Amino acid sequence: EDADLVELVQHAADAFRASRPDHPLTVTTGTEAVKVRLDPQRVRQVLDNLLANAAVHTPPGTPVSVEVVVASGAALVRITDAGPGIPPEDQERVFDRFYRVDEGRSRDRGGSGLGLAVAQSLVRAHGGRIELNSEPGATVFTVRLPLDEAGLPGAPGPERTAV
Ligand code: ATP
Ligand code: MG
Repeated sequence: EDADLVELVQHAADAFRASRPDHPLTVTTGTEAVKVRLDPQRVRQVLDNLLANAAVHTPPGTPVSVEVVVASGAALVRITDAGPGIPPEDQERVFDRFYRVDEGRSRDRGGSGLGLAVAQSLVRAHGGRIELNSEPGATVFTVRLPLDEAGLPGAPGPERTAV
């Protein structure tokens, strides 16, 4: 199913603003629709978890940003927060089921540690992947989804490739 990733991100952003008014959210996208073959509910679940994580790990008032970018055959959604970050030695393991950084400190935040494991398998099921870059003050989760050829700006349409 083809869906507009920009529209999907806007809907996730609206829901985030309603449920987390304590975290100002900025969304940056191009003006064009970004058509991706995806299951909207599943990708929405991924975005919701990444946005919730960003809010949970930053103090009230701290902005969160979302960006949609098209780059070399892929659509990227980048979610950035200004929280404490994820130490390098934990960056792979946060995608493991039930793994939570500093369990003692984060127990009161109530998560199960499943969100990123589920998000990663959902994104992989779309032929994509999730990338993580994090240092204190800047954590970026990037959801990378393969673009439909037909959705690539300037790609030849079928009527022109047909012989
Ligand atoms: P759940 O999503 O199942 O409710 P959770 O949020 O704890 O629980 P994950 O989303 O899988 O689980 O995240 C795993 C762990 O990775 C978190 O417990 C936290 O330690 C760390 N983490 C995730 N996102 C961030 C972030 N943006 N900043 C800092 N740490 C993070
Ligand atoms: Mg989570």
